[in-house]
Amino acid sequence: MAKVIDGKAFAEGLRGRIATAVASLKEKHGLTPGLAVVLVGEDPASRVYVANKAKQTVEVGMNSWEHKLPAETPEKDVLALVEKLNNDPAVHGILVQLPLPKHIDSTKVLSAISPAKDVDGFHVVNVGKLSTGQDSLVPCTPTGSVMLAKDVLGSLDGLEAVVIGRSNIVGKPVAQLLLAENCTVTIAHSKTKDLPGVVRRADLVIAAVGRPEMVKGDWLKPGATVIDVGINRIERDGKGKLVGDCDYASCEKVAGAITPVPGGVGPMTIACLLYNTVKAACAAKGIDQPAM
Ligand code: NAD
Repeated sequence: MAKVIDGKAFAEGLRGRIATAVASLKEKHGLTPGLAVVLVGEDPASRVYVANKAKQTVEVGMNSWEHKLPAETPEKDVLALVEKLNNDPAVHGILVQLPLPKHIDSTKVLSAISPAKDVDGFHVVNVGKLSTGQDSLVPCTPTGSVMLAKDVLGSLDGLEAVVIGRSNIVGKPVAQLLLAENCTVTIAHSKTKDLPGVVRRADLVIAAVGRPEMVKGDWLKPGATVIDVGINRIERDGKGKLVGDCDYASCEKVAGAITPVPGGVGPMTIACLLYNTVKAACAAKGIDQPAM
């Protein structure tokens, strides 16, 4: 049976190290990192995410601001708020919760965030820096996924890695991070031929597809490490349930290590957001980032 990769415990440890770093920044430099989150509309899942982000931001000792705007807010007002936050020296990180209502152009809004405060790492400047190997703010879920893989495997040097999914939010940045870790990376997607055959080559599988329990145990090379990014809500036995993109029951029999859903990659995302906010705050102040 595969080793279970406990993302919840790892994220808790990371948040503890971040809290220590924040305390030392306050004491030595009078610096309190601050994160502003912008939520437009009433999407219930987004409301829960934003509330969790704010709670965890405060718990590690940072400043947190929540800007909740009604769904019908014009695009120009969202852009004006982003500009105000760009110019506020107390704000080191800005996150605009996606999805935005349909009348707002997300690309335009994300591009308006100062790259130095882009703690989601979605701005083209940060995407370009990541892909050219420059230090940058890196998207949170990919960072968390690779942290978990490194925690269980140590060095990723020379491993065959297969990423399933090519989104800008997960698949592409995770592939860039694995390349930087010296993996041989294959990015599979909806048009990939013989996906099971491609996945079977992998020492490390990162699944970010959004299709419940798609990856089966018999697709895996025995002993492979499986990082399941998928979060899918399904109905089973008359009850709502969260499952990943991997069929846990069959994969855990073949994999060497696997992340559960929930409790795997999910908790890493906010922890990495806090990490990025500390990083952005140190860069803004021109000081070295404490170890975290
Ligand atoms: P997306 O819909 O933007 O991208 C999905 C990708 O999967 C696409 O590139 C597509 O080509 C590929 N794909 C679709 N069907 C496929 C198939 N049959 N075979 C192979 N590839 C296929 O999704 P996303 O934003 O990248 O998110 C992926 C999953 O990760 C979702 O379940 C999402 O909920 C989850 N997610 C979790 C976190 C977190 O843990 N905090 C964060 C972001 C996304």
